[in-house]
Amino acid sequence: MIIRVRHVAAACVLGAALTACGAPAAPTAARPAPTSASADTSRPPTLTPGAGGLTPVFTNGPRTGDKTVALTFDADMTADEGPRAAGGEHFDNPQLISTLRTLKVPATVFMTGRWAEEYPAEARSIGADPNFEIANHSYSHYAFTGDCYGLPRVAADRMTSDVERAYTAFHKAGVAHPMPYFRFPGGCYDRQVLKTLATTGVTAVQWDVVSGDAFATDSDAVARQVLEGVKPGSVVVMHCTRSAAPATERAVRAIVPELRAKGYRFVKVSQLIGAAATGR
Ligand SMILES: [Zn+2]
Repeated sequence: MIIRVRHVAAACVLGAALTACGAPAAPTAARPAPTSASADTSRPPTLTPGAGGLTPVFTNGPRTGDKTVALTFDADMTADEGPRAAGGEHFDNPQLISTLRTLKVPATVFMTGRWAEEYPAEARSIGADPNFEIANHSYSHYAFTGDCYGLPRVAADRMTSDVERAYTAFHKAGVAHPMPYFRFPGGCYDRQVLKTLATTGVTAVQWDVVSGDAFATDSDAVARQVLEGVKPGSVVVMHCTRSAAPATERAVRAIVPELRAKGYRFVKVSQLIGAAATGR
């Protein structure tokens, strides 16, 4: 009974964390920074820091011009979930990655450092595929503000190192060129956190379309929500974890042909940020 109760409690925490990943920006979210940006052919495009050097925040690309859309997949694994992975829970989703390859859909994977430690071969493979780019979703998947869907909180003096530790984990897994983009666990951030992370040089990446794939079992409902939400320049948040987002791969198979039929082209987040940089 005790084990059962504890299991339910753990599932709730995971549920909160994943729902948070697919939820709109938290009430504590600061206003997005202006989408002024700098383009450089040799380095990934990033936004210029906000006033006072704040970490810039990207939410979506230009609404005009190309009908482009970026599918993003959060590869969530929390620092304390190792025992559950050892017990057989799958925080990865190889079939989803395979489907994206088959459909030739470029995508951005926001990976936690802990995920890369658990699945180094998959991280390396995703990182080596020009179809994909790997960005940072923290090492621990703990919250960077208070009141973030019940996630444990990163201490203020450990925030920068948590971001850097994820890059170290990517490097150890053999990921050569992770992007300087960071997605806050739960999407929770505030002005103070943007200031704290300024030294890391990352551009924070939010989203404008919530897929609702966390714990969804109805892939049609997920697909519908995405199809109704996408506009030119949209960033869609989804998940790359079988255990907590089991309908995502099926939803992607429904979403991709529909959006292509509407004239959309799939791009990576870096391309949307680059487009914002050049005004295309
Ligand atoms: Zn997440």
